[in-house]
Amino acid sequence: MATPSDAQRMEKIVSLCKRRGFIFQSSEIYGGLNGAWDYGPLGVELKRNLKNYWWRVMVHERDDVVGMDGAILTHPAVLKASGHVEGFSDPMIDCRTCKAHLRADQLVEKNGVQQCPNCGGKELTEARQFNLMFETHVGAAAEESSVAYLRPETAQSIFVQFKNILEVSRKKLPFGIAQIGKAFRNEINPRNFTFRSREFEQMELEYFCRPEQGMNLLEYWKEERLKFYENIGIPREKLHVLTVPDEERAFYSKGTYDIEYDFPFGRQELEGVAYRTDYDLSQHQKASAKSLDYFDEETKEKIIPHVVEPSAGVDRTVLAMICEAYAEDQAPNDKGEMESRIVLRFHPRMAPIKCAVFPLLKNKEPLVTKAKEIVALLRPQMTVFYDESGAIGRRYRRQDETGTPFCVTVDFETLGEKDPVLCDTVTLRDRDSMKQERVEIRKLTAILRERIR
Ligand code: ATP
Repeated sequence: MATPSDAQRMEKIVSLCKRRGFIFQSSEIYGGLNGAWDYGPLGVELKRNLKNYWWRVMVHERDDVVGMDGAILTHPAVLKASGHVEGFSDPMIDCRTCKAHLRADQLVEKNGVQQCPNCGGKELTEARQFNLMFETHVGAAAEESSVAYLRPETAQSIFVQFKNILEVSRKKLPFGIAQIGKAFRNEINPRNFTFRSREFEQMELEYFCRPEQGMNLLEYWKEERLKFYENIGIPREKLHVLTVPDEERAFYSKGTYDIEYDFPFGRQELEGVAYRTDYDLSQHQKASAKSLDYFDEETKEKIIPHVVEPSAGVDRTVLAMICEAYAEDQAPNDKGEMESRIVLRFHPRMAPIKCAVFPLLKNKEPLVTKAKEIVALLRPQMTVFYDESGAIGRRYRRQDETGTPFCVTVDFETLGEKDPVLCDTVTLRDRDSMKQERVEIRKLTAILRERIR
């Protein structure tokens, strides 16, 4: 159960996200569309940094993984074979008092009686299965033969393209196919900000292997994924590995871990790492009557590869990064008095803006010119923000709130007016320690690049 202070913390995070342009309610001016979110100028940078880093470590830095980008509109046969048309559903219960639609596991129990979490009503319907897929129609005629689905996960297009990708990439087992993209689920009750949305993005890897490698690779990928979260600034002690018990695992899975994070609203799943055996490829081979096997040149045998799947949510990870980064502490203002500040302590590699550049005064032309030269120098290498308005302390504070790890200030020393030795040096201020160091402009790019990589 979240304590009141956790609830307050979450409220502050949601309001900061809106105020600073990370995340807005979708269609807000029309009252909002439940379960859909729009990312603003800073949110989109954060999200891109996350996806790019995932792609870098999961695809570019590996020899055994290739990428793909599949269509969102999906042939119904694909989702029939995968089991989604029949079974991708949640049990739904209606409250007869307030008419809310509820997921069966969201009911609250008081004195042994189940109640509606919204109004406390005890008049509840029986549970019925509610399919979470969004159905649509392709082409002009809205008839049964035109049905298509918005994909509920990215994985299925990987399985369906397995043979094509195997042939063109000429990879040998074990190898993986990675994809990042949108997925859609008509969640009964979207909630906890972006945590449970109806439209969201996934980062999925299907790592194909021989049957005897499956269990070891499940352990391997769990560890790799834990390292990943640490490398984007989520400390190990806030991450938890849940071994999904036999009775809750998909029937075809031989082992599944959920990687969970301590959100302010409770411990919740960020990613599932599942050993799915040969279920998906076998199902598609059967249903399509096309071979999806792998010919092993050493043993001269054909096998259906098994697969281990680390499947992460982009939006949930972005939310975890924001929750983890949010802090309130004390910082000195321009008069040296301590003031409270809000700071987002993003890992520099994830921060939306890497460096802000300020001229000490905006009405001193040489300071402004120099600062703009520095912006031009850094811009090809990283995201930069130029700000000349207000006192320096206020400018720092604005950057702290958006999580910018470094601020560069051009002052009179930069112009060589005080000490020729300091000519063409600037102050470089660190967001977390608030320490300032004097660095030469010619070394600035290299110093920052090293710190944000
Ligand atoms: P949950 O139990 O929370 O509904 P799940 O176990 O159904 O999640 P998976 O099918 O394993 O989720 O999907 C893999 C990942 O996709 C999840 O770990 C999560 O990060 C992300 N994801 C799934 N559903 C949503 C959603 N409705 N909103 C945001 N992200 C989601």
